[in-house]
Amino acid sequence: MTYTLICGAEIHVELKTNSKMFCGCKNDPFHAPEPNIYTCPVCLGMPGALPVANKKAIEDCILIGLALGCKIAKVSKFDRKHYFYPDLPKGYQISQYDEPFCFEGSVDTSFGPVRITRVHMEEDTAKLHHDTVDGKKVSLIDFNRSSVPLVEIVTEPDIHSAEQAKEFLKKVRDIIRTLGVSDCDMEKGSMRLEANISLSKDGSLPNYKVEVKNINSFRYFANSLTTEFARHSKILDRGETPIQETRGYRADTNITVSQRTKEEAADYRYFPDPDIPPIIVSDEWVAEIKSRLPELPSSKIDSLVVLGIVESAAKILVSNQVMMNYIDQVKTLNSKYIQSAAKDIVNKKVDYTKVTPEEYIKSLKSKFADKITDESVLKPIIEKVLADNPSVVADFKAGKQNALGFFVGAVMKATSGKADAGITNKLLQSLLN
Ligand SMILES: [Zn+2]
Repeated sequence: MTYTLICGAEIHVELKTNSKMFCGCKNDPFHAPEPNIYTCPVCLGMPGALPVANKKAIEDCILIGLALGCKIAKVSKFDRKHYFYPDLPKGYQISQYDEPFCFEGSVDTSFGPVRITRVHMEEDTAKLHHDTVDGKKVSLIDFNRSSVPLVEIVTEPDIHSAEQAKEFLKKVRDIIRTLGVSDCDMEKGSMRLEANISLSKDGSLPNYKVEVKNINSFRYFANSLTTEFARHSKILDRGETPIQETRGYRADTNITVSQRTKEEAADYRYFPDPDIPPIIVSDEWVAEIKSRLPELPSSKIDSLVVLGIVESAAKILVSNQVMMNYIDQVKTLNSKYIQSAAKDIVNKKVDYTKVTPEEYIKSLKSKFADKITDESVLKPIIEKVLADNPSVVADFKAGKQNALGFFVGAVMKATSGKADAGITNKLLQSLLN
């Protein structure tokens, strides 16, 4: 029997605001000189301590929602999610149940869009350390992370392969890093992943779901899909249904192991937090947050492709801020060297951490002496490229901006890379319009 993978992702991202989510304690769990120093009655869960929501964290959450194409709720609220675990001193986590700040977004992948169900705000738990002291096994607890602002992004079950999962997750990470609201460092745990996995025989939604938790790399996420696919297939082939449960991914053996049978939402006994009033999100506030949106990676990639950089290289550059700064500096100094710089950086032919953009350009000048800058030479070449590709011309006229990148690439191919990118672009724009 052949099956279709049906997977939804849950992504947790710790925000790097100055203070925690519901108190004034410093939010810096990774650099704290010792455990339990950034604490107060609120984040220690003392009776009677009152939480006050962090406005900047809410704005960052909405910013993420906007960048993921979400709608923003006009009224939102915080709820208590009850469960008992030593890292949760109150016995409940402040989260959002039925009125998240952001909902119904979408992120494109080359395998199809992944719809975003919701983006909501919650607080992180404290951190447990299991250790051995004087020969005894002990569990130590560090409250520096307790109540750090945590954004959760939940997707619809639109992921159908390990490759699509990796592409989607990288895209979300790059978007959030571009926003500057989180480091998304998977090793430290400021970005954490969960997968909801099931298999379908006919493409319809299956009647079971297995949750894989504690995934701390894109590769492990992809691996968990592959191993679960094989495990579910065997069970389904026997005419049985996999048990609805939570499993943990073990990187050392590349298997998942059962942790507990899945709680239903009702088990958390959600109810509105009576200590925090509902949050009214005005159109003006959303507009103000929207005005902070920087240029997003997909748009940056398109801009680089238009400048004649191949798409695969553009993707690498955009996901690395230091490389991107270098390219921006080269562009400012002299845009005609940008293609060469992109190629050399991606292929590790220049050490961008040692060679300054100025030095790099000086080293290239002689190589570029034979660039084609004469418009009367370039124009007929460009006209031929356009005449040879009528369907791409139609795409461009229908609004597909990346069609321009295709033409720049074709002109470069026809001139063995000697066409001046700036002039080629200018001519292309005028001939196409
Ligand atoms: Zn505190």
